[in-house]
Amino acid sequence: MDRARAVYERLLDYYGPQHWWPAETAFEAIVGALLMQQTSWRNVEVAIRNLKRARLLEVRALAEAPVPAIRRHVQIAGLYQTKPARLRAFCRHLLDRSGGDLTRYFARPTDVVRADLLAQSGVGPETADSILLYAGGHPVFVVDAYTERIGGRIGLFRTGEYRAIQRYFEEQVHRDLMTYQEYHALLVRHAKTLCRRVKPACAECPVESLCDFGRRRKR
Ligand code: SF4
Repeated sequence: MDRARAVYERLLDYYGPQHWWPAETAFEAIVGALLMQQTSWRNVEVAIRNLKRARLLEVRALAEAPVPAIRRHVQIAGLYQTKPARLRAFCRHLLDRSGGDLTRYFARPTDVVRADLLAQSGVGPETADSILLYAGGHPVFVVDAYTERIGGRIGLFRTGEYRAIQRYFEEQVHRDLMTYQEYHALLVRHAKTLCRRVKPACAECPVESLCDFGRRRKR
């Protein structure tokens, strides 16, 4: 079996399904992805709860809300000078593009939606792909710092370039929505649990025998 696939099987076996992204709706997943930059998921969860309580977790409601009102609810997620305005601008764009109908918005080809997302303020490749994968149902592989760290240590690729790493996974792992969602979630879990930035717990790691870094450490 190919190494990228074998890593996936072992992580899934070890940690079990991660049920990620924990959003009730596609729009909630979008808001979560937009708020995720430079903060923790715990803070994003609180911000989303606040928006929900204020009945603002809806495309039109957020598009029409004053920025200071949005800021009050999401400031826990940081970057409060930029995130609220970007969130509102993104919702206005959704209204312009598809009348706020997310099924219509995501119905276009993946590359077209991706380019549209990347054209929005504050949306980089990781955010765009998270939205495509978890809100839009497009099977794209999300690359983040954890993917780069774990894949680099294992020796799956020797590059730090986003698209090159993404291409690697998309060529090695059968393109399947659930698999890509699960794989990304498992890499996040693994990076936080065993494959930490400092002092990774290689002796306990389910992929140690597949990992260049782990094998070198053992010698
Ligand atoms: S063996 Fe160590 S470096 Fe390799 S994936 Fe496991 S924890 Fe990370």
